[in-house]
Amino acid sequence: MSDLLDGRTAVVTGAAQGIGLAIATVLADHGARVTIADLDGDKAAAAAAGIGENARGVACDVTDEASVAALVRDAVDAYGGLDVLVNNAGITRDASLKKMTLENFQAVITVHLQGTWLGIRAASEVMREARRGSIINISSMSGKVGNPGQTNYSAAKAGIVGMTKAAAKELAHHGVRVNAIQPGLIRTPMTEAMSAEAYAATEATIPMRRAGEPDEIANVVAFLASDLSSYMTGAVLEVSGGRGM
Ligand code: NAP
Repeated sequence: MSDLLDGRTAVVTGAAQGIGLAIATVLADHGARVTIADLDGDKAAAAAAGIGENARGVACDVTDEASVAALVRDAVDAYGGLDVLVNNAGITRDASLKKMTLENFQAVITVHLQGTWLGIRAASEVMREARRGSIINISSMSGKVGNPGQTNYSAAKAGIVGMTKAAAKELAHHGVRVNAIQPGLIRTPMTEAMSAEAYAATEATIPMRRAGEPDEIANVVAFLASDLSSYMTGAVLEVSGGRGM
């Protein structure tokens, strides 16, 4: 599609489906070589095969320190470096405060916050050495406005914003940029699990009057991954059709 990311290498977590798969596809379309990481290694490999020769799929659990370290090491070995990390893997365990268990709370906090932190820490080691790199963290509008039934997820996604800014300040003088995206309602397996009423009610609050498509997040990731955004770090971009502005 373009040579915007020619010669660049990227790792995208949680990329066997949904927004992550769209990100991996768009980065590869712009010339990057992409490692797709997901819990299910076979699903990641199948997703990579769908993209073609510029993609590979591996198993990784972002909550596991050794697994994330192996992911980064393996990506560097395969492609000779790491220019872009997209911390995209995510889960929801929605419930009201009355019904949410501590386990539901901890699972969501661990995947989003610990997972993103482990990714930033491992990738920045490589990027600092190379004196270049772009890390993109997928937050959510839930982290800005808070959603009922998502005390766990909203806290985790707001935490990703603070983590992004702190890491951006630590890494800026090493040539490594760290930015975040806050998607609004995007049509993926995650949101297909919502009830039709909840989905329609959310869609009705969007000024653009429609849910977004995964590609509409992926295109913003490509911008942040590339030199087009060379003077941006610590930024949080809302990609929500105007919802929550
Ligand atoms: P999705 O379709 O559920 O895809 C998420 C992927 O992450 C799945 O393949 C999932 O695997 C994987 N994953 C879960 N836990 C993991 C772990 N510990 N290690 C590695 N991979 C793991 O979700 P999505 O809608 O594409 O969401 C992608 C990101 O965007 C998430 O961070 C989400 O919070 C964020 N987001 C989504 C929306 C939206 O409207 N869809 C809005 C705002 C933000 P399994 O299927 O095996 O669990």
